[in-house]
Amino acid sequence: MISVCFTVSVAAQNSRLEKTFYKHDKYLSSDKMQGRFPGTKGNNEAAAYIRKYFQKYGLEKFNGNYYQSFQLFVKEGINKMKSDTVTTQNVVGYIEGSDEKLKKEFIVIGAHYDHWGWGGIASGSKKKDTMAIHNGADDNASGVAALLCILEKVSKSKVKSKRSIIFVSFSGEEEGLLGSKYFVNHLPIPKDAVKVMLNMDMVGRLNAENQIFMGGAGTFPDGVELMKNLAENSGLNPVIHAGGVGGSDHVSFYKSSISAVGFHTGGHPQYHTPEDDIELINFRGGALVSQYIYNALISIANYAQPLVFINRD
Ligand SMILES: [Zn+2]
Repeated sequence: MISVCFTVSVAAQNSRLEKTFYKHDKYLSSDKMQGRFPGTKGNNEAAAYIRKYFQKYGLEKFNGNYYQSFQLFVKEGINKMKSDTVTTQNVVGYIEGSDEKLKKEFIVIGAHYDHWGWGGIASGSKKKDTMAIHNGADDNASGVAALLCILEKVSKSKVKSKRSIIFVSFSGEEEGLLGSKYFVNHLPIPKDAVKVMLNMDMVGRLNAENQIFMGGAGTFPDGVELMKNLAENSGLNPVIHAGGVGGSDHVSFYKSSISAVGFHTGGHPQYHTPEDDIELINFRGGALVSQYIYNALISIANYAQPLVFINRD
């Protein structure tokens, strides 16, 4: 009987998580967001949406603000814009750890929210000639959906982690990891207090083999082993690389000698096209991925051994 109840409750929890993942992804990848291009109303509305949930789930602010603003230069021929310097923002908050000593150490979890707007000739779109909203349901509304699902779980957990956790959603990723570079160069805490960064970029298209891919699992002690152990009963088949740190915002941390792991569920034909839409999102998969990365985050935030950087170049 007990095991039956347990199964039912896990299933109920998963279906709740699926719904939440879908809700966030759908909102961020709706036409209203206009492809979330930095400096536009849609980008700002996406940031405000993320900030609303940071507030709701009780994250603390650094310097009295969830926004970390920065400027970026936009070339002519992207998103119908003339070349211009625009202001955009990372969204940042944190939850303090429970251990008197370890709370001075921080684990960062992040996902970029910006995308290519209407595309255009100078953009990173694969369909440069088509001016259409690039909704980016996988890239990277899915990563932000996972971030908010994980935040909700952390906030509702009765047990607090020993180390502090920073939640961050970056802008300017598509233009060359600009938001995460800015964040690493303008950290609200001492750099050596940042122990591990976990990044999610394109986690919404879990395939039939249930593969989640990760690079950089070996950049902190026993990381590969941890990720393997967490695979048990996760419903996922993780493809784990000790090194291979590439492709997204975690690179900005790794280049600064901070342990960094990047998660994704693989590429697809709709990558960087106007067809990367909500209809193709596997939200059952998004829930599994959120649960897996939540477990990784909590394990690392309570890690028994010292979190030192391991270079995998
Ligand atoms: Zn992208």
